[in-house]
Amino acid sequence: MKISTGLLFCCLFSAFTSAKTPLVLLSIDGFAQRYLETYQPKALNSLVEQGTSAKALLPVFPSKTFPNHLSIITGQYPANHGIVHNSFFNRDINEKYKLGAGKNDARWLTADPLWHINERQGNKSAVYFWPESETSRENKTASYYYPYKHSTPNKTRFDQILNWLRLPAAERPNFITGYFASIDDAGHDFGENSPELIQAITELDNLLAEFVEQINTEFSGQVNLVIVSDHGMTKIDKKHVIKWKNMQIDDVKVINGSTQLYLYSDNNQKLQESLTLFQSQQEEQKGYQIYQHPNFPAHWQLNTDGPSIPNAIIDAEMSYIFDKGRSHIDPETHGYDPKSQRDLDAIFIATGPSFKKNVQIDAFNNVNVLPIITRALGLKDVDNIDGTYQIADEIVRK
Ligand SMILES: [Zn+2]
Repeated sequence: MKISTGLLFCCLFSAFTSAKTPLVLLSIDGFAQRYLETYQPKALNSLVEQGTSAKALLPVFPSKTFPNHLSIITGQYPANHGIVHNSFFNRDINEKYKLGAGKNDARWLTADPLWHINERQGNKSAVYFWPESETSRENKTASYYYPYKHSTPNKTRFDQILNWLRLPAAERPNFITGYFASIDDAGHDFGENSPELIQAITELDNLLAEFVEQINTEFSGQVNLVIVSDHGMTKIDKKHVIKWKNMQIDDVKVINGSTQLYLYSDNNQKLQESLTLFQSQQEEQKGYQIYQHPNFPAHWQLNTDGPSIPNAIIDAEMSYIFDKGRSHIDPETHGYDPKSQRDLDAIFIATGPSFKKNVQIDAFNNVNVLPIITRALGLKDVDNIDGTYQIADEIVRK
């Protein structure tokens, strides 16, 4: 009798706490999986030991910031959430996408972000930056968010996340995101093993250590923390610049995404002429591949119809970059097909009461992050997404 009462209490208590435990999702832009080993960041590696981590979080194609952040936060592939690159065209809107354009025209985003899913189930969300977080869905944004400001210090972001956790129950968000760009900036500008990259990793790791300590002392560790990155980073060979003079013939739109050219045209003959023109301007036919809809590689998940799906993609191979003649080329970048490139692997680390301790699971695609978080938040499962609940079943404590 005594035992069964104890069990009942334990189960009720755990159901109660898991539904009420807030979850903080942090994205460290451009943090390659290999940095954990190369630079041994103390706080991050300690979280790996304390929680559940993946051997890698696999980016979607293309391995650019906006499509990947949206896949993480909607559980859907770019063709379905609408942000198919950092630079692309939308035939219905009749405009070229600019980063964050959804705040002026919500049609750019075609899937629900997690902050919206959470609010629709009666909770509050808080977003300290995330790509397209200023875009409304059903005329609503998250209860708390800030217009994007790149220069906001990382510490300010962590401090505000703690302030949100301190709010009285009725106002407190149960789902909070934070976004940090400083490591991506240093990776692009200075590259692997540069003092600037090491400094950026150390700075963020120290802030994370303070943040975790505060969670443990002030909230007795009753906060779930999920840390992800959107993609890794890889070297550009400065001799591998693919230039072209002009492909913008008649009805063909060419959008330069640096690691891909997206071509849009309803006139197939003009499209073929444009591709031929591009090839004729190359001294050597190497460093790129041409693909045409609907015969894109299946894992790109772009062989569907939609206003932003290009008719052709010229895809740069690793170390190559499309450039029409800029004087400066960064030492490193991302955006390439991430499928067989381990340089582009990202991270997934989850700690807190809802996650198993010291467990490492196999690499998985980032469309599966959303189901993990909805389960940890105690939300209803979300239908019609590309991610599955298989990994959530494996790692989220019931
Ligand atoms: Zn990024």
